[in-house]
Amino acid sequence: MCSSIIKLFNKLISIPSISPNDMGCQKIISKELLNMGFSIKNFDIKDTKNIWAEIGNKKNGKTLNFLGHTDVVPSGNLSNWKFDPFVPTIYEGKLYGRGSSDMKGSISSFIIAIKRFLHNFKNNMKGRITILLTSDEEGNAKNGIKKVVKKLIKNKEKIDYCIIGEPTSEKFLGDTIKNGRRGSLHLKLFLKGKGGHIAYKDYSENLIHKASFFINDLIKLDWHDKFNNKDENTNVQVSKIFSEDTVENMISENLFIRINFRFSYKISVNYIKSYVKKLLNYYKIKYNMKWKLSAKPFVNKNSRLLNSVVETIVFFNKKKPNVSMSGGTSDGRFIKKMKPEIIELGLLNNTIHKPNEFVKISDLKKLSKIYEKIIEKLLL
Ligand SMILES: [Zn+2]
Repeated sequence: MCSSIIKLFNKLISIPSISPNDMGCQKIISKELLNMGFSIKNFDIKDTKNIWAEIGNKKNGKTLNFLGHTDVVPSGNLSNWKFDPFVPTIYEGKLYGRGSSDMKGSISSFIIAIKRFLHNFKNNMKGRITILLTSDEEGNAKNGIKKVVKKLIKNKEKIDYCIIGEPTSEKFLGDTIKNGRRGSLHLKLFLKGKGGHIAYKDYSENLIHKASFFINDLIKLDWHDKFNNKDENTNVQVSKIFSEDTVENMISENLFIRINFRFSYKISVNYIKSYVKKLLNYYKIKYNMKWKLSAKPFVNKNSRLLNSVVETIVFFNKKKPNVSMSGGTSDGRFIKKMKPEIIELGLLNNTIHKPNEFVKISDLKKLSKIYEKIIEKLLL
């Protein structure tokens, strides 16, 4: 059965499914799932392919959903790769290829885990297993899980538990899992001052000076949401400052600033907005602003899913995983609208989005066993 993980893995890695192109990955997976007895619904939305697969009876137990994406990021400069990124290559116990860790490896692992589980316990299963896959996670994520979840909710679909196969492990498999993510809020600020001759400073209003005080206060602010792991704290990053191009002896009239807030579940969007406005007013800066909320924060504490995942990892690693909300956003922000308990658990993230992305063969097999054990805990 272990060789079937690698067989499926090799088929998927051979396909250059650069986001949002699925290029047949989901067809291969669907074939595997149909053979296992799943029924499948396709949701093709513009350039994006999505599938929803299910097996079991939702009326006699809980629904456990596995969430994943078949798209990958581009390979980047090919000369940095030891092997062709779309020719799966085994070298020294490792499988190389774009998407091996993020996340065709974990998709292969959970599908084969489900296959083994059904082989052993199909008649004793209480509840239902569902699988939701998209080809638009690495790109703008417009036509992927976000839209499919809306359709599923309309169809009155419910899930109780959701395991996302994103690569959460850091030094060894299962050392870190995610029980939530921070939110992400973007701000574009258009500031207006008074231009003038640089030698007559009192006749102008130098926005660059004023804005530097504003930025300094903003990035030093204590948001009072300290977590043990500082990567979970609310954090502000200024990513662009741009003034109109003037000559050397002029003070510019306009200034553009781009800011991103990664905020924890302890901080509200309104609090951030009102704080920024207060600060701008304090420095008497005239502004227009444009906000974009791209993800709300979420967290999962003390749930049956979290406890089952932690127990399973302790069983395999003899060590508790680090439970974290750090990192960027994931499709968890969309699936959370269906109100399941959510945990992210997957392969190592040390080579994702880089040249020579790889996964250890032993990790693929172990992850599959971990997933299998979790299914047993939840559905038997
Ligand atoms: Zn991913």
